[in-house]
Amino acid sequence: MSASVFFPLDRQQVVGVIGGGQLGRMLALAARRMGVRTVVWTGGLEAPAVEVADLVIDLPFDSPEAMRQFCEQASVATVEFENIPEATLEGVGKCIGLFPLPGAVAICQNREREKNFLRENGIPCAWFRVVESLGDLETAMKELGGPGVLKTAAFGYDGKGQLKIEGDENPAEVWKEFGGERAVLEAWVPFEKEISVMVVRSADGEVQTYDPAENRHRKHVLDVSIVPARISEETGKKARALAEKVAVALDYRGILGVEFFVNHDGSLVVNEMAPRPHNSGHHTLDACATSQFEQQLRVVLGLPLGSTELVSPCVMLNLLADFWPGETEPPDWTPLLEAEGAVLHLYGKRRATGMRKMGHVTIIRKDLESALREVERLSDGWMNV
Ligand code: AMP
Repeated sequence: MSASVFFPLDRQQVVGVIGGGQLGRMLALAARRMGVRTVVWTGGLEAPAVEVADLVIDLPFDSPEAMRQFCEQASVATVEFENIPEATLEGVGKCIGLFPLPGAVAICQNREREKNFLRENGIPCAWFRVVESLGDLETAMKELGGPGVLKTAAFGYDGKGQLKIEGDENPAEVWKEFGGERAVLEAWVPFEKEISVMVVRSADGEVQTYDPAENRHRKHVLDVSIVPARISEETGKKARALAEKVAVALDYRGILGVEFFVNHDGSLVVNEMAPRPHNSGHHTLDACATSQFEQQLRVVLGLPLGSTELVSPCVMLNLLADFWPGETEPPDWTPLLEAEGAVLHLYGKRRATGMRKMGHVTIIRKDLESALREVERLSDGWMNV
């Protein structure tokens, strides 16, 4: 177990952040700008939020000692990562207050609970069955009778813990390949596009949504977010209303990402929720009146919500590790720095491995098509990915 690193802090407006990834980093940077201090509880001192936090607690998320230190140093808390033990969420919630509330995080961190929540609240989601044995899988595959995707019930993200099926496989082989973990079998949705809505809800129930973002993925990881999403006005309104409905039903406090599949007939299906700032909301830093990080801090600190207005159309491009020439060798940023309207964000990660999210760039242009052309030019030419 490694030691904690302390800096002097007073107890005024110190926001505790559970998790030390890039979301925690951007949250801590937003806090700095607002004159608010942060305590980041992280697993590992190489985490991106460490170098911008005022205080770092580097101990496991189930450590009682870490919880004691965290609650002593912070006046209120939030999460930047949902896969935190429930007992920790509950403990911090009772001690200093956690926003979003522990119950909302617990629903969003587990696919089975999330799906049941959506179904119980009449929010459209893909057909699903909970599967905990080979027998369950056989029955569920028969009932589904077509393509689907098997997803672990707990702790899944960016396509991890997922197995696509066509429907005609031998269930015993599918179950073996999947590893026999408790899972949700979900119908495959032949969607036209994927969108997401960031929604923010304050402690006194005020709700605001951001313009929907249209998301494209590469190898299961978000690649590009186009804002505003190229969908009809009606679909946009429906998505915003559904995101609000989810936030209200969760009694949500803070910023929440709601991901949707848009079907060819314009109908919507909620895929999943993220109880924190979300990658598809990064453009809010540079293209919206108030960023998703500032909104989170506003709710956590009991301040009024900010405007969610989109000031300019934009396209956000993730900078993933597969574009780094070497694990510790960064790309030449010149073409990007020269691109009109490009705002570069790097997360300070020392090693570029796999599909790690190393940074992002937001291209802001008066018209969306021009921003999209620029992103395509950069990704096809300079990035070559
Ligand atoms: P998830 O981790 O559940 O967000 O899944 C990652 C990605 O896999 C989604 O963004 C979709 O592109 C795809 N996907 C997941 N579930 C489904 C589904 N039921 N039907 C079609 N595509 C899916």
